[in-house]
Amino acid sequence: MIYADNAATTRLDDEALNAMLPYLREQYGNASQPYSFSRSAKKALKDARETIASCINANPEQILFTSCGTESDNWVIKGLALSHSTSWRVAVSEIEHHAILNPCKQLEGLGCKIDYLCVDDKGIVDCAEIAKLEASPNLVSIMFANNEIGSIEPIKDLCRVAHKRESLFHTDAVQAVGHLKIDVQNLDVDLLSASAHKFNGPKGIGFLYAKNPNLLSPFICGGAQEYGLRAGTENVASVVGMSVALKKNCEEIDANKKHLMMLEDILLDALKTSEMDFIRNGADERIPGNISLSFKNCDGEALLHLLDLNGICVSTGSACDSKNTRVSHVLKAIALDEDYARGTIRISFGKNNTVNEVLKIAEVLVKSVGKMNL
Ligand code: PLP
Repeated sequence: MIYADNAATTRLDDEALNAMLPYLREQYGNASQPYSFSRSAKKALKDARETIASCINANPEQILFTSCGTESDNWVIKGLALSHSTSWRVAVSEIEHHAILNPCKQLEGLGCKIDYLCVDDKGIVDCAEIAKLEASPNLVSIMFANNEIGSIEPIKDLCRVAHKRESLFHTDAVQAVGHLKIDVQNLDVDLLSASAHKFNGPKGIGFLYAKNPNLLSPFICGGAQEYGLRAGTENVASVVGMSVALKKNCEEIDANKKHLMMLEDILLDALKTSEMDFIRNGADERIPGNISLSFKNCDGEALLHLLDLNGICVSTGSACDSKNTRVSHVLKAIALDEDYARGTIRISFGKNNTVNEVLKIAEVLVKSVGKMNL
């Protein structure tokens, strides 16, 4: 099996798994209990919070643990609106993940106004899109990097313009954390979402960075965990796994980038020499290893299955987003020609992929596209 769908999820790092095991076995104490048996769990949570904060240049009190990227995003979009009136206004890019778009739809149903910001043909939001909005949004939310085409948004500039309009700024950095250097103080973002399984951590755990956590009202209500902002018994083992995986990935960012760019070049060179008619989607600045390819007059889904028959896991870049279309909202937003859009797949390499695997993918891809174009 060749796994090349690392934008969907990544393999759990061995060191992260080993760090988790004691908290799943012997150290199972509830981290919120005062007795000494729980001390180790409590300390593990504290240490993990510090480690995660230092990876993005935040303070530990600004890191709030959640169950995943989707929860972090929902907390920002719906949780903030909850504590304000229906006059709450949000601006998001039209290529956000559904973890942002669908809560926005819910807010619209409740009478809130959502502005959808256009992107260019590379998937980039221009600062002018925020500047020209008729009314100032209360919140602007723009993803750090797009999950389908990998484009990296100019977050620092977008945040500056949002602040000029006195809007809070959130970025869904689920695809970026652990893969790109992120300094929340330098970016000046107010809120940032992340998810552990995208950076070789466990599934079912994520975090939300909040510059000022007091702005957030609790989204999941119950006990006093997470400073009373996110109730539920702490998932100590997963938090520990997330912190180990994030620290390791952050230390390896430059080396991983170099390796991934080398793999990208090998794949693209092999495809170019085959003289297939294809487009690589996205901006020049992309998440390393994220390769969205659109093959003319092909069927992305059929291509995915042909690759699967050869033991290769990739993703379709044109997943159905409604009953009537087979082209995703992202590909529509970048106005990709329909003849190419339908033949889109996303290959996303991870740090564990090898040159031989890439050569095999290229070989199978060339054969499969060739068959489809007969
Ligand atoms: N945001 C983006 C950009 C994503 O790519 C994903 C997952 O693919 C999510 C949010 C949701 O994250 P999770 O799977 O942790 O809920």
